[in-house]
Amino acid sequence: MRIVRTVAALREALAPVAGNRSIGLVPTMGALHEGHLSLIRAARSDNDVVVVSIFVNPKQFDEAADLDTYPRQEGADAQLAEEAGVDLIFAPEADELYPAGFATTVSVSGAITATLEGAERGSAHFDGVTTIVSKLLIAVAPDRAYFGQKDAQQLMVVRRMVQDLGLPVEIIACPTSRDADGLARSSRNVRLSASERERALAIPRALGLARDMVAAGERRVARLQQELSRVLAESQLETEYVAVVDPTTFEAKDFIDADSWCLIAARVGATRLIDNQLITVGG
Ligand code: AMP
Repeated sequence: MRIVRTVAALREALAPVAGNRSIGLVPTMGALHEGHLSLIRAARSDNDVVVVSIFVNPKQFDEAADLDTYPRQEGADAQLAEEAGVDLIFAPEADELYPAGFATTVSVSGAITATLEGAERGSAHFDGVTTIVSKLLIAVAPDRAYFGQKDAQQLMVVRRMVQDLGLPVEIIACPTSRDADGLARSSRNVRLSASERERALAIPRALGLARDMVAAGERRVARLQQELSRVLAESQLETEYVAVVDPTTFEAKDFIDADSWCLIAARVGATRLIDNQLITVGG
């Protein structure tokens, strides 16, 4: 496994492969955990060459403190990546991707970026995501790129961008990887104290309740929001949103008339966590 830090070195490393062997890209911000590894394994089984990018993208952070305290552990990441069969790590410094004078933004508009994470974190968040993902897709030119359903809105925004720009890459969605107790794996989980981690379990519990309520016939989103918010508040979580949206457009629903995505963002102490679950109706 090689680690490269510049786009020129990346292109050079991939030059013998391009066009004759398939390339899978897993974009990450590092602090690799089992969730990332599940994406890497999917990439490994689908492609001849696996590239993992590690870049804590300043443009997608809306809180300076979150960016400053974001876990960084490149040595451990490299070891995990190598064990998982990664061929190449692309780990650039910020000025490699955003050199002086950088002035371009790739921006997806509409409900898909304006709501939920876009509303809570500001429009710059998804602009930061789509700008960096497009730069990575152009630099690596992968056949397939892997994204987690844990960040469901991000996945749909990236799909929209790829379709709208006609980028020649297949976006592969990978299921959310969870700890045994149900908590979705996240690089930010390391910030949770033992008691906060326990309280954070209210999030998967609330999502389970949504699924159960819909299975029992409840269709009113307001009722779901009320009950799920209660479950979160009971564990002293500060709810940012409990939402039910159309899985493709991310438009909010009042009534669940088809399969929908239920999404939660909540703060446990200083740590902001997100999670989601597809809610299926009938059938
Ligand atoms: P991040 O390093 O947090 O930017 O995540 C990099 C990629 O890994 C994104 O596509 C995430 O959606 C995905 N990811 C993060 N956590 C998980 C998880 N628990 N299960 C599946 N995918 C994940």
